[in-house]
Amino acid sequence: MTTSKIKKFCDHCVNPFGLGAINPSNGKTLQFVERGGRLLCEICADFLSPLRFPDRKYFDREFDEYLKGHNKVIFAYSGGLDSTVVLALLSKECKKEGSSLNHSQLKQA
Ligand SMILES: [Zn+2]
Repeated sequence: MTTSKIKKFCDHCVNPFGLGAINPSNGKTLQFVERGGRLLCEICADFLSPLRFPDRKYFDREFDEYLKGHNKVIFAYSGGLDSTVVLALLSKECKKEGSSLNHSQLKQA
């Protein structure tokens, strides 16, 4: 009978679980933690820690204050997923606030 080994990786990056990968920041074996049902390497667990990122409401409040303080928003649109998501959010919020939204797509060389 053969058993197949299922390789596990960090649920946020490609660091392999259980293979003794080294944490480049300290030279020690990379540790993994389970957080919210997800397997995370210690690098991602630290990066995603609430201590590094303020609450989502903080960003929403800053965004609202910015839009209320500006009647014109200029946005550089790359065409990638991140900027498409931001453009969709900006478009919706600018319509709500009555702000003018100008966006231009960056041209690739
Ligand atoms: Zn990771």
